[in-house]
Amino acid sequence: MPSSKHLVDLDRAGVEALVRALKQPSYRAAQLYQWIFKHGARDLDEMTNLPKALRAALRDEGWGVGRARVERVVESVDGTRKLALRLAQDGAVVEAVLLPMEKERGRYALCVSSQVGCAMACAFCYTGTLGLARHLSPGEIVDQLILARAELREGERVGNVIFMGMGEPLHNFDNVVCAIERMVDPEGVDFTHRKITVSTSGLVPKIDALGAAAPVNIALSLNATTDEQRDWLMPVNRKWPIREVLAALRRYPLPPRRKMTIEYVLLGGVNDTDEDAHRLARLLRGMPVRVNLIPWNPFGEGQFKRPDEARVLAFQQILKAKGLMTLLRVTRGLDIDAACGQLGERPQALQTEIPGEMEEEHG
Ligand code: SF4
Repeated sequence: MPSSKHLVDLDRAGVEALVRALKQPSYRAAQLYQWIFKHGARDLDEMTNLPKALRAALRDEGWGVGRARVERVVESVDGTRKLALRLAQDGAVVEAVLLPMEKERGRYALCVSSQVGCAMACAFCYTGTLGLARHLSPGEIVDQLILARAELREGERVGNVIFMGMGEPLHNFDNVVCAIERMVDPEGVDFTHRKITVSTSGLVPKIDALGAAAPVNIALSLNATTDEQRDWLMPVNRKWPIREVLAALRRYPLPPRRKMTIEYVLLGGVNDTDEDAHRLARLLRGMPVRVNLIPWNPFGEGQFKRPDEARVLAFQQILKAKGLMTLLRVTRGLDIDAACGQLGERPQALQTEIPGEMEEEHG
């Protein structure tokens, strides 16, 4: 009989309450919790130090682990690995992406999803075309880290978690904060706040709330330098324009010596002119930021085009000359639709072709 209640959705207090309700000694709660969040058990029968009677009692009460099923792992020629995860709750599929980090062999950044689809409707983003199906629960978010770790080979590890997959994390604020709390629990997943980054399209009140709730890094997906343009590219801007969102970043309680990230997707002929670069430098003057330039990743018959390499380098050069730390993000996972803005299940006709250009790093 399939389980109707999922252990991955419980926090530590929830596991303790469950074990108490089953009249078991309290140390069983610690064991059960570790099986779920430290050892990544996928089935009650893997929990070999729990008595069979307890496992049977859990089953009788309708409990199962409730872990997502790894439906597919697709590996790119550049080492990026995209995991398609079928959720236990309703069979929806979300994606998490392991991105090889440049400086350290075997270390990956894990890009996690926070929603099924996304409500923000950014014009350049494939996920935005899907609309929002639902929020992910805290357990479904943490599960992506546990399942991704299980896919790693010997000597590999997840060095960073970035909330930049499907969805706007701050639109699912409570669950994302709760997921972060579970990720950093030393008795469970045991990750660190310092290595977690939440990326937002600019939900100002929630940026303030995140700063108060969790000492994580923040990234803003900016992508335009005038409100007129950003209103069009990112409808969220009509509610919280550029000035307000940058003010929210300026008051974000960033831990000492850390920088926040500004993501800027370069759309050929749209937001990649010299004037845009100068305006961007002016907007960010004096802020502790690092700018990630991301040449747009095409999907289907979009209205945008990828800028050519010379334009991208010229844009970057202007920012650098203004003293801004600027990285040109190496395009990872293009051949498996795992690059920025490409996540989400799609019909075959929309599979992306691999452009031959600009596969190299220009740091
Ligand atoms: S860019 Fe981010 S916030 Fe915008 S539609 Fe895509 S997933 Fe949503």
